[in-house]
Amino acid sequence: MGGLEQQSVLIVDDDRVSRTMLAELLNPDTRVVLAKDGASALQRIHDDASICLVLLDVGMPGMSGYEVLQKLNSSPPAQDVRVIFISGATEERDEEKGLLLGAVDYVFKPIRPAIVKVRIQNHLRLIAQRKALERLAGHDALTGIANRRSFDEALVLGCQTAVRRQEPVSLAMIDIDFFKQYNDHYGHPAGDEALRRVAQVVASFARRPYDLAARYGGEEFALLLPVVPDMNDLLDRLCLDVVAQAIPHAGSKVAPVVSISVGAVQLRPGATHTPQGMLEHADALLYQAKQQGRNRAVWGPYPVSD
Ligand code: GH3
Ligand code: MG
Ligand code: MG
Repeated sequence: MGGLEQQSVLIVDDDRVSRTMLAELLNPDTRVVLAKDGASALQRIHDDASICLVLLDVGMPGMSGYEVLQKLNSSPPAQDVRVIFISGATEERDEEKGLLLGAVDYVFKPIRPAIVKVRIQNHLRLIAQRKALERLAGHDALTGIANRRSFDEALVLGCQTAVRRQEPVSLAMIDIDFFKQYNDHYGHPAGDEALRRVAQVVASFARRPYDLAARYGGEEFALLLPVVPDMNDLLDRLCLDVVAQAIPHAGSKVAPVVSISVGAVQLRPGATHTPQGMLEHADALLYQAKQQGRNRAVWGPYPVSD
């Protein structure tokens, strides 16, 4: 799931000596961007999404550091940006004002370089951890594909879009066959590996921009597919591709290898969007696929016509 993203620190100070000193403190470990007034600082933040931390002087001609932060608060940039004030204003009320505005830290000038360096690095680490947590919140840690939360959000949006455009949208619920027996026979770690491999197959069916593959929970996956030309063909290929992985499954009563059952629904164009109804109906069709012998897909339109 990728390495560390690039982090840049923006140093904003009208005094060249202060800018240089702070930059030297951070180089070469951290990428540094410089600005000598508030307006160019805001422009740099807007243009450079890697800027995640701003070392902001308070007393500057034109726009003060406080005003810069107020502007950031009122029209937040695309990325998450933290601010540390570095200020010659050392009264308690100055520090309080800076922190109340939302700065993560307030450092007095003249700075103590070693301490300031450690503080900056601590904040950079916290920012990186936060980003990692956000990624985890949308992704399933075991398989690396989207998790249930992301999927539920995408389903609501996908249904709304389909209804607005009078287009179909399809939802497939996928469940591995006899997976309890798989774990019992090969052990939990092997089960985890099988889940990863099935996840990759499911993910390979989400190729277009609005398609989404997710681990919905346990040994269950979900696929959201706006506008599928041929559902029969797609679902057959999905089942066959999992079998083609040839993951031995001695405990399965349906095949010598790991297989899946699928229940899928296609929202009729023009139907009212009902994500919950679609999920429930897909689950009912998945149950039918299990009843009919597993290693197969059952699908139908939604709402069901009478
Ligand atoms: P069916 O064909 O009817 O779906 O039978 P099944 O055994 O697959 O269904 P059941 O719901 O009884 O068992 C699901 C199993 O999936 C039980 C559980 O231990 C396993 N499982 C769920 N999450 C994980 C996981 O993260 N790792 C591993 N290794 N196993 C998991
Ligand atoms: Mg299950
Ligand atoms: Mg199962």
